[in-house]
Amino acid sequence: MVINGDFTLGRVTLPTRWERADPRFERVDGDERMLRLATGFRWTEGPVYVPAGRYLFWTDIPNDRTYRWDEAADVVSVFRSPADYANGKTLDRQGRVITCEQGPRRVTRVEHDGSTTVLADRWRGQRLDSPNDVVVRRDDSIWFTDPSYGITSDYEGYLAAPDIDGCHLYCIAPDGNCEAVRTDFDQPNGLAFSLDDSSLYVVDSGRNHIRRFDVDPDGSLRGGETLCGCSEGHFDGIRLDDEGRIWAAAGDGVHCFHPDGTLLGKLLVPEIVTNLTFGGPERNLLCVTAATSVYLIMLNVTGAPGT
Ligand code: MG
Repeated sequence: MVINGDFTLGRVTLPTRWERADPRFERVDGDERMLRLATGFRWTEGPVYVPAGRYLFWTDIPNDRTYRWDEAADVVSVFRSPADYANGKTLDRQGRVITCEQGPRRVTRVEHDGSTTVLADRWRGQRLDSPNDVVVRRDDSIWFTDPSYGITSDYEGYLAAPDIDGCHLYCIAPDGNCEAVRTDFDQPNGLAFSLDDSSLYVVDSGRNHIRRFDVDPDGSLRGGETLCGCSEGHFDGIRLDDEGRIWAAAGDGVHCFHPDGTLLGKLLVPEIVTNLTFGGPERNLLCVTAATSVYLIMLNVTGAPGT
């Protein structure tokens, strides 16, 4: 094991604690032990797994560093410092990393040559608040949330008064135009499309629930009713598995929901979970950012493609 950074590796395996709430959670769970890959961070977020390199990236937001776990070499190292107070990340369909940056208050993409393209930093001429999480639809449009968490103090960004009235859900069209698509959130946060793109799930962490929208083929939204609430702590990042179940970061672990909103079960984690992604070559390695640590656990299910 090679370490490069001033965090503590603190690698340890822990017994996995599953909590079943519904018979349909049978065989959805996974290993009896999970790995705490590294610890000693302030607040980890933004996990994304890059299959081409077998890398997991995440950011310690208050310490303003992005880390990388090289799965093949089993090395954890600092990848970027400072890191523009990066938060949520995803891959586009060309395998490029897209990042929400709370410092410069923008959404960016790293190109294959290593250069950075700014995808959005304003709406109607006004600066975004602090983009939090992002997902790419199969038509290559890029959807992100813009709560105020990165500008309410200097802890996760830079203290500033918001330019925009309200915290919105935005879509960057394939032609680059950025528009607010729903403006009725308190603090929009994690988001994910259903496997067939017909539904969009969006966390409102201010109201502590997940909303479900119907998505028309042209990308317009209808509905937006509350799908489910959070029974412990607050919802943050969400991802789907390849059967459409919703895996949501919460206060006591990762909560797994049926697409109809029923809580199926929980993976209990000893810290507040902020976000998650499905990694590994087969997308069955659940990678969890949780407050001061990053946890890995092999599941019996795999993540949805493109998550
Ligand atoms: Mg978030």
